[in-house]
Amino acid sequence: MTEPVCRCDEPGFDPYECESDDCTGYFSEFNPFAGAPMNERNAKVSRACGACGWRTTVWHVDDGSAEAELHGHVQSVHGGSYEPGGTR
Ligand SMILES: [Zn+2]
Ligand SMILES: [Zn+2]
Repeated sequence: MTEPVCRCDEPGFDPYECESDDCTGYFSEFNPFAGAPMNERNAKVSRACGACGWRTTVWHVDDGSAEAELHGHVQSVHGGSYEPGGTR
């Protein structure tokens, strides 16, 4: 049995088909920003409170952190009486 050789440096080779133990292949899921345009790397996500207009800090990734921060604001300031996105 021959040792699998990493061929990921070859153009057009699919890294997912590489079976080498010392693979140098590039897997995009290990780097969520890979290949993303610059403006998406810095999402600058901010959420505004619908009850008082307060805004969260600006988050650079749209991973729900802004929503979580807004939720914390609603909990502490409005006693949880306003839910973001809710219709009341
Ligand atoms: Zn490889
Ligand atoms: Zn508020």
